[in-house]
Amino acid sequence: MESSRRALFLREMGLSPVWRLRGENPEPGIPASEQPCKATGPIGAEVPAQVPDKPEVAYVPALAQDDRTARILRMDWAGLTAVVATCQACPLAKTRTNTVFGVGDQHADWLIVGEAPGAEEDARGEPFVGQAGRLLDNMFASVGLKRGDNVYIANVLKCRPPGNRNPNPSEVAQCAPHLQRQIELIRPKLIIAMGRFAVQALLETDATIASLRGKLHRYQGVPLIVSYHPAYLLRTLSEKAKAWEDLCFARRTIAVL
Ligand code: URA
Repeated sequence: MESSRRALFLREMGLSPVWRLRGENPEPGIPASEQPCKATGPIGAEVPAQVPDKPEVAYVPALAQDDRTARILRMDWAGLTAVVATCQACPLAKTRTNTVFGVGDQHADWLIVGEAPGAEEDARGEPFVGQAGRLLDNMFASVGLKRGDNVYIANVLKCRPPGNRNPNPSEVAQCAPHLQRQIELIRPKLIIAMGRFAVQALLETDATIASLRGKLHRYQGVPLIVSYHPAYLLRTLSEKAKAWEDLCFARRTIAVL
């Protein structure tokens, strides 16, 4: 990426001038977009890209294998899209404007999983198009990623909880098969779970994001990295640098998968 644009993104993320990509002193023979992220300042040590054979957090499928779940888990993209668009499985169906299925490349290597649509997403039917989404796009850009380009974005819930309240457990349980099937169809190389609800839904743990960051986890065998939710980063600017570290860790990890 052109260095002045990257500097802009990093500044927007509150990371400039502490961080730079190693591309500023590029490694010979490697395109700029693939140069490794490198910490040059005091914010944090480089996280080693480790690819353990075994998950560090065991995944236990949460889903009751009832008929509905079993049917969803056999669907193709068209069936799944239609079933989400008309879903009445929980009360959020009554308050939503649009379902928000997900967006991006159906064969993406990268899958980003967020929490649930907010007001703008509910109005437009697309994930991460509000303020948090703009930060997410800038975070992507700072590591050479782009929405729709080898990236798929989905949420745990496909419908907006009224007033952006937290998803409740029964809503998550009803919607979980949709995300599970999306992951099976995409077969991404790497999942980034952003925020508490994505982490809880995929890893079945109540551990803190802080304790799960910087390690490689797995969801049904798919490598998974934990990071903060962009909406949280908008409220807690001091954590943006950690989210940047997580994306750098993700980029180094996917390069060796
Ligand atoms: N927050 C999310 O988790 N997902 C969205 O789509 C928008 C905001």
